[in-house]
Amino acid sequence: MGKKDVGVSQEQLTRQICEIGCRMYDKGFVAGNDGNISCRLDEGRYLCTPADVSKGFMEPADIAVVDDEGNQLTGRLEPTSEVPLHLRIYHELPRINAVAHAHPPHATAFAVAGISPPVGVMPEAEIYLGPIPLADYGTPGGPELADTILPHLRNKAGTILLANHGAVACGKDLMQAYWRLERLEMYCRILILSKQLGSVRPLPEAKVRQLLQYKKKRYGMDEDDPRMD
Ligand SMILES: [Zn+2]
Repeated sequence: MGKKDVGVSQEQLTRQICEIGCRMYDKGFVAGNDGNISCRLDEGRYLCTPADVSKGFMEPADIAVVDDEGNQLTGRLEPTSEVPLHLRIYHELPRINAVAHAHPPHATAFAVAGISPPVGVMPEAEIYLGPIPLADYGTPGGPELADTILPHLRNKAGTILLANHGAVACGKDLMQAYWRLERLEMYCRILILSKQLGSVRPLPEAKVRQLLQYKKKRYGMDEDDPRMD
């Protein structure tokens, strides 16, 4: 199992999920009861958001604990129908300890248009996001959704667009997963605005190489970018 939030209690992680849900809702990343968030708790136990509840109005008692088979252990509400997707990610990829799924509008616009955002345009996107693959369409709540996402995660992606649907961000902890979602939306929004103004001008190749070196040496994030291979 990967290194999860060491020393962070179940109560703190539960509260963090509620806070991230609020931010996702306030920023317009989710409408109605859309979206789901989860994290590893300890060996064979996971926290996840409930079904049919706005992510902006969750209380700690709504957050469920599920086991490796997806059985609900605690929580007053039924967990999200995407539990099987989250569990498959945790089972296959020990480096991942948190997963957040939402429909941020500008990122989702790329996913609906069938366009993977370009790399080599902005420093923060290079360092914190890297290449953002576009996964094939899979029906939400079904096993095929995991099949479309997992190949990209195995290839080191941390942020993935889901064709005609939305985005999934993963991380070593909850904040990394959430920040990736936030950065993805900001990046996609800037790309769309730049295109409206004229064009998206790429960074010079040498500058991108410099950023990748920085990413590896300063942040040790070579695990998170297939271009490091
Ligand atoms: Zn969705």
